[in-house]
Amino acid sequence: MHTISPVGTIHTPYKEKFAIPRQPSLAPSVITELHLSGAANTEAAVRELEQFSHLWLLFLFDQNLQAGWKPTVRPPRLGGNERVGVFASRSTFRPNGIGMSAVKLLGVEQKQGQVIIKLGNVDLVDGTPIIDIKPYIPYSDSIAEAQGGYADSAPISMPVHFTAEANSVLNKHPDHSYRKQALSEILSQDPRPAYKKGKTDSKVYAASLFDWNVSFCADDKGIHVLNIAPLA
Ligand code: SAM
Repeated sequence: MHTISPVGTIHTPYKEKFAIPRQPSLAPSVITELHLSGAANTEAAVRELEQFSHLWLLFLFDQNLQAGWKPTVRPPRLGGNERVGVFASRSTFRPNGIGMSAVKLLGVEQKQGQVIIKLGNVDLVDGTPIIDIKPYIPYSDSIAEAQGGYADSAPISMPVHFTAEANSVLNKHPDHSYRKQALSEILSQDPRPAYKKGKTDSKVYAASLFDWNVSFCADDKGIHVLNIAPLA
């Protein structure tokens, strides 16, 4: 038996699981920070890391650990109806609750003793424990002839429209262009349950993103951001 201790914690705009893209590359503009902790919080541990453009993050699906796992799961890519083996999926309910994401390295800095690794292309809830970091090595990790099975191509994205009300909140924010781009990329993935994909539905959904509660609905023209309010 070996005990695993996190090497850091990631800080992201995703305050809950709902609306997080299902894979890391789907919201490329979103910027996140990995703060190293304990014995790993040392500049020595990240020496020469910036030679690499991309990294592998290994992490714990900590919000699902208590729920356990089942040998078969229903991937959203198959509409949430068909079952495949857990090992033929990226399900968050797994025997050891370990996830892995290939992310973009934006920079490494140290502020008052805190080593911070800035990352793009992250699909993790704010506060997710990171258990290892490794450089992505293209000659070995990128396999040109690889086959993606039932997830062979990127999911279809939807246009995102903002109401005047939502735009007026966005435009008051000092980082409004970044936030609008980030919200557009995140919501274009249509975060609704898989069986609602491509369907109009009358429900208004709410996602906790940045320090906002973002409400939206969907129809055949795309996703409509109805309002943006401070998170309670
Ligand atoms: N790229 C990783 C992988 O393949 O192992 C994660 C893929 S998983 C399908 C991505 C989803 O994990 C996100 O959309 C979010 O709902 C969920 N998620 C992210 N962080 C989590 C956490 N800390 N605990 C549980 N679920 C999480």
